[in-house]
Amino acid sequence: MAEALLLARAEELLHELGLRRAAEVVVNHADAAAARQLTYLAFLVGLLEAEREARYERYLQARMKLANFPFRKTLADFDFRFQPSLDERQVRELATLAFVEEGTNVIFLGPPGVGKSHLAVALGIEAVRHRISTYFVTFHRLVDDLRRAHADRRLERRLRVYNKPRLLILDELGYLPLQPLDAANFFRLVCERYERGLPMIITSNVSYGEWDRLIGDPVLAAAMLDRLLHRSVTVNIRGPSYRLKDRLRSGVPLTVPAVGREGGEI
Ligand code: ADP
Ligand code: MG
Repeated sequence: MAEALLLARAEELLHELGLRRAAEVVVNHADAAAARQLTYLAFLVGLLEAEREARYERYLQARMKLANFPFRKTLADFDFRFQPSLDERQVRELATLAFVEEGTNVIFLGPPGVGKSHLAVALGIEAVRHRISTYFVTFHRLVDDLRRAHADRRLERRLRVYNKPRLLILDELGYLPLQPLDAANFFRLVCERYERGLPMIITSNVSYGEWDRLIGDPVLAAAMLDRLLHRSVTVNIRGPSYRLKDRLRSGVPLTVPAVGREGGEI
């Protein structure tokens, strides 16, 4: 068969087999292979690698969307020098995602603006890259959603949604005390994920000592913390708000906003 016909046939077959990227690049790869006198095997490997790379990219795009991140910031975007109270080695260790395998919860505690959400999302992005199913939700949304589901008698079904991802990121565990029903619903989720060994990343500006007040019931708060902290790493960040850093640098006097008042923080 003439070369051109063979190429057309190759494209057709690759398409039919669902190897879209390989079909797109087979002409170029064949030309390059001829020009550089590559072996048949080297040509084949190059073509298959192009296909695999394109598939991984498509997979990543889809999973990143599903993960529901509010923004895309990575560890590379994080300036550790700005936050010396943070142990960079510990964060890098977390980025290996061994904690997900172990079912260990990661809890970022600290005042507003110190990078809790940034780090939680960065670890989440790392998890997606490692093909770990991940879902991000703010605590406020979660509680609202479970309350509505409970009212519609579909709490079980809704809980299943939050139990599905291997890694659940709960952002901004609230400052405002929870209603008893909300606390009970959240407790269900904590128990179910704990029993399945499914880890969470939680960010909060509420220290553990304040959980009695947050949950509104000391016995329930203790039972919840017991499960959350059984296998857990707490990362305390004490430091200046990154949001206010420019003001700090320019020497403008700083009035620290009251907790719960700054740009949508709980
Ligand atoms: P928190 O969740 O603790 O309130 P965020 O993670 O939302 O804080 O951080 C506030 C903003 O500052 C975000 O835009 C975040 O990307 C940025 N930020 C915080 N800390 C750092 C840092 N050390 N390096 C780079 N950007 C940071
Ligand atoms: Mg935050």
